[in-house]
Amino acid sequence: MAKQYDVAVIGAGAAGMMCAAVAAQQGKHVVLIDHAGKLAEKIRISGGGRCNFTNINAGPQNYLSQNPHFCKSALSRYTAQDFLALVKKYRISHHEKHKGQLFCNDSAEQIIAMLRAECDAGGVEWRMPCKVVDVQKRETGFSIDTDGGELLVDSVVVATGGLSIPKIGATDLGYRIARQFDLKLVETRPGLVPLTFDGPSWEPFVPLAGIALEVEVSTGSAKGKGSLRGHFREDLLFTHRGLSGPAILQISSYWQPGTPIVLDLLPEMDVAETLIGLKKTEKKQLGNVLAQWLPARLAEGLLTANGFDPAARLPDMADAKLRKLGDAINRWAIVPTGSEGYRKAEVTLGGVDTKELSQQTMMANKVPGLYFIGETVDVTGWLGGYNFQWAWASGVAAGLALANG
Ligand code: FAD
Repeated sequence: MAKQYDVAVIGAGAAGMMCAAVAAQQGKHVVLIDHAGKLAEKIRISGGGRCNFTNINAGPQNYLSQNPHFCKSALSRYTAQDFLALVKKYRISHHEKHKGQLFCNDSAEQIIAMLRAECDAGGVEWRMPCKVVDVQKRETGFSIDTDGGELLVDSVVVATGGLSIPKIGATDLGYRIARQFDLKLVETRPGLVPLTFDGPSWEPFVPLAGIALEVEVSTGSAKGKGSLRGHFREDLLFTHRGLSGPAILQISSYWQPGTPIVLDLLPEMDVAETLIGLKKTEKKQLGNVLAQWLPARLAEGLLTANGFDPAARLPDMADAKLRKLGDAINRWAIVPTGSEGYRKAEVTLGGVDTKELSQQTMMANKVPGLYFIGETVDVTGWLGGYNFQWAWASGVAAGLALANG
């Protein structure tokens, strides 16, 4: 006989565990289903194994969505401070690393254990590993066909995450369920992902793999409806296939294929004016002058790529040429060939269109009892703990709505 529950949460990741724990602790009979053999792999590998579990400055301004207002309600009702209070209750030692990013001192496993304990405190039943074959609406509630038998439930919460890192269990089930119930999707694409470059103009930079420096990065001019303009000051890393590092991961979420990103490699300096000013006193070769401020190999690569001889002496350079060189360093516009894709992306942009959901409860407006939370929804955070904060906040919003429903 089919087993009955008040709530089935599909996906025992960050959002799913949070939602299940909240609904169960408020008295709901909850089953949590996941097809993976190992619990919450994405939390385990997050933040280099130390889980950047939130950002104390998290607010709607740190998220991308077709409707930037949608995330406000959930984020304001369950804040980074609320999650931090839970972390402190479990005596998980932590530290702030950079720009409000909070990490575990020891291991991301502690966050998984905490969420598991919160689920157990509410008596959540686990179905894992368990594959969901089909979800159907019934006259009252839903039936869920799984490889472990049929479940009859009043409500279904879809928390299956995005498409990134398929090798640890990401699937498109959430989007398929949305489509099945006629809910619109915003096109998905990889976010927080390294960008790739190739072709002759990139050749001078191939040997620079491993060089890192702080830069300012922005997307090119925002043309046309829906274009997004991003701007970050973070570290850049040259890789064997292109560019990575926090600066590039951040800007990748704003980047549109075919358009340039613009790098300022020396954001504290107007390079053209500085070089022109130095001409009277500085007799050095151009390569050596730049190597005072930039890694020497990068300075040489930039000069070669822009048609300058690194051995040319500064006083011999015309001002117009130095202005061109200044542009190449302060406003380096380059068009990525592509990205490393879902294989390397930390998140998936797009997903279930927020117009289809209630921002208070995360329930689908036209399918009472069906909820979508976490990364499956078209809300994507910046790098820095924002994505987990959305998972916690949207999970709590749905969990409380289920408990009060
Ligand atoms: P997930 O945590 O991905 O959980 C989805 C769950 O659904 C998984 O357990 C999966 O097995 C299950 N599932 C999927 N398909 C099915 C199916 N068909 N049937 C049953 N179950 C299914 N964010 C931060 O804020 N800070 C960080 O430090 C950070 N580091 C990251 C590092 C890496 C390498 C990656 C890839 C991501 C990182 N993120 C980080 C992003 C963050 O992990 C995600 O945004 C977050 O986990 C999304 O939570 P979620 O619950 O929506 O989805």
